[in-house]
Amino acid sequence: MRKPVQRGFRKLLRRHLVGIIIIAVSIIATAGFLYWYTSTTEAKIATIKKHSAAQSAAADVQIKVIKAQKAAELKAKQEAAAKAAADQAQIADSSTATSVNSSDCNTATTHNNPASIDVVVNKKHCIQPVTYIPGDLVSIGSGYVLSAKAAPSFNEMMAAASAAGISLSVTSSYRSYSDQVSTYAYWVNTSGKAGADTYSARPGYSEHQTGLAFDISSNGCVLSCFGSSTAYTWMQANAATYGFIQRYYAGSESITGYDAEEWHYRYVGTTVAKDMEAKSIKTLEQYWGISGGNYY
Ligand SMILES: [Zn+2]
Repeated sequence: MRKPVQRGFRKLLRRHLVGIIIIAVSIIATAGFLYWYTSTTEAKIATIKKHSAAQSAAADVQIKVIKAQKAAELKAKQEAAAKAAADQAQIADSSTATSVNSSDCNTATTHNNPASIDVVVNKKHCIQPVTYIPGDLVSIGSGYVLSAKAAPSFNEMMAAASAAGISLSVTSSYRSYSDQVSTYAYWVNTSGKAGADTYSARPGYSEHQTGLAFDISSNGCVLSCFGSSTAYTWMQANAATYGFIQRYYAGSESITGYDAEEWHYRYVGTTVAKDMEAKSIKTLEQYWGISGGNYY
């Protein structure tokens, strides 16, 4: 026999069946919706997280790059400042006679008179005094001057070259001590002291200061270009006739202390120039037995 409560419940169930089903379906639908909503939102958050992680990693990389750039810029600035300071110090050094060590800048007891055509000026033998100015400078045209000991021969040589159809132009002749201070300082500033020393004399060590040397070009062909010109061939054949020698030959660098300079000539007089030619002696250092090469 069923209990009256159970009967009552069944009656209730039958009467409200549709409503109960609707409620049940609603609950299931709501739960489903919530599940769907939650899972898609989580997926979205995960994607956003992933994205922002990638973005911050990219930002990190950018920050690192910028930091590296800043560090490189700072380093370059510091190096430039250090170089400028070093250059200034070198220029200051080259601008004073203190860069010439007078105790060892001219140990020769011969060939040391700057007023004589047999003087030797090289990296071991400065001019003494270092501020020496020839007392007999004369014009050779175009604003250039040479010692009166060399100028007449120079003019004769230029006339002979011109008659032979050879074009020669002076690019440098006598240079004073102070000219050499600025010339050398310029090259030190450009190439550093070691670099400058290979092609520019320190003040007091330039043969140009004797008034016996000059540099030459042909039709705008200057410096090393001159060595391959027909004018150079002419100079090789004729310079000695007028008492001039090419002072710095290729192959004599360790003796003269300078790289080859096909454009630089020095007056030594016809007797010496011809004798050197006859004996195939290329340098004054070898001809007169004077030490040369680099600075002390
Ligand atoms: Zn020269």
